[in-house]
Amino acid sequence: MTAARDMFARHPRVSGSLHASCEDGWLPLIEDCLTKLEAFGLPIVIHRIREKMGALRINILTPTSLSVEDQRRWEDIIRAAEESSLKTCELCGNPGRLRQSETGTYATRCDAHQVI
Ligand SMILES: [Zn+2]
Repeated sequence: MTAARDMFARHPRVSGSLHASCEDGWLPLIEDCLTKLEAFGLPIVIHRIREKMGALRINILTPTSLSVEDQRRWEDIIRAAEESSLKTCELCGNPGRLRQSETGTYATRCDAHQVI
């Protein structure tokens, strides 16, 4: 969790739930997302960031002060990060894919971390 704390500390415009309920391999995806959202120049309020069904889920409030077009761009940035998580090992950040364990648990993992 130290890596996550350091990552959030690099983004002083971000507030809310400064916690990522996922492994560190996805932190670069989250950080890239935050960096792109910061370009809008508005506060970034995180509701929740977590892993669900093997994918990254980022819940960040969309600022209502943005135009409808910019709200769409804002949400597209978040969606792109979520989609990238399905091609990125949650543990190490290397290329991966969505896998399912024998017990039905989903996880996105590289070949080296394929045992869920
Ligand atoms: Zn891996």
